[in-house]
Amino acid sequence: MNDLFRADYRDLRVYSGDSKGYEIDLSDNTNQWGAPPAAERALRAAAESMLRGYPQPYGESLKDALAKHVGVEADWIVTGTGSDDILDCAFRALAKAGDRVAYQSPTFVMIPVFARTNGLEPIGVQLLDNYDVDVEAMLDVGAQITYVCTPNNPTGTPLSRRAIEAIVDRAKGFVVLDEAYVDFARDNFADLVRRSPRVLIARTFSKAFGLAGARIGYGIASPDLITEIEKARGPYKLTAMSERAACAALVQDIGWVKDKVLQATAARDWLRDELAKREIPAPPSESNFLLVPIAQAHAIARHMAERSVAVRPFANLPRIDSLLTATNGEALRITVAPQPMMEKMLEALDAAIAAVRAHAA
Ligand code: PMP
Repeated sequence: MNDLFRADYRDLRVYSGDSKGYEIDLSDNTNQWGAPPAAERALRAAAESMLRGYPQPYGESLKDALAKHVGVEADWIVTGTGSDDILDCAFRALAKAGDRVAYQSPTFVMIPVFARTNGLEPIGVQLLDNYDVDVEAMLDVGAQITYVCTPNNPTGTPLSRRAIEAIVDRAKGFVVLDEAYVDFARDNFADLVRRSPRVLIARTFSKAFGLAGARIGYGIASPDLITEIEKARGPYKLTAMSERAACAALVQDIGWVKDKVLQATAARDWLRDELAKREIPAPPSESNFLLVPIAQAHAIARHMAERSVAVRPFANLPRIDSLLTATNGEALRITVAPQPMMEKMLEALDAAIAAVRAHAA
């Protein structure tokens, strides 16, 4: 039977999610301050009719609420099951088998996977030393889809407006701009959908909005592009409960979200200072996490896990500047959290570093 499976799927692996159950889980950049209370109330009030009947086919109520939030008409919005779904549908809708996807590297680990599961050829282009995207090298790929992510995961760093606009103006195919962490950043790029009908912006409720478990994402683009993505998406992707929770968060609790974003950015800057005191410099993040270049990242993460603190280790990250060169491309990605959790995390980090160094000595 194995012969019947797609040959180009053979060396793809299913995603091995971080196992849960840690006292402090700072591995996935979710909102450590909680979920919007209005969304929780909406879920508790879920009615029998929401379970029995189908939801709206394309999440129409949420499209309306998002249109107001973003400042566009509702036909400029597509909703999905997390922004994963938006990216996956966009790759499927906007390129045909064999086409190229150019993406900045390092970035969100699922990008080459979504490309390959859709029969596309992913081509990574290393970020520049200042963490900006290499415009000329990206354009040289001649891709059908060019993916950029700002602020970027896992570096946390923003791309420059100059570089993004150059890609939008000069790329011959579509440009997918991933703004999963936009709420923590100084700039956002929603205006670029007016600059070009080939631009799609992907966003999520999983990070600042504290609703990762509800799996809600959305895209912003010109109406013709939205229609193509909705063809690939198909109807009924968003559950009635998730749609209700997202609408409640947008309409009733945007103040809650903004307050938590302020706390997260303050915690991020505090943590960066604390790390600097330990002579561990981190790139300047505009997200709710820090990338911490450090040798033996996996061993350190294992020691921290023994103290029930989860962080995400990376190896072989492209060495985009002296920080990552010094650690041979190894790093930890640490989500920020309320102060008591940050302090416990630092205790675990200090102990883990000491243990790994003692072992090496
Ligand atoms: N884009 C980026 C850059 C991410 O980091 C993530 C999640 N880690 C996603 C998209 C997907 O998020 P979700 O599917 O939860 O919306």
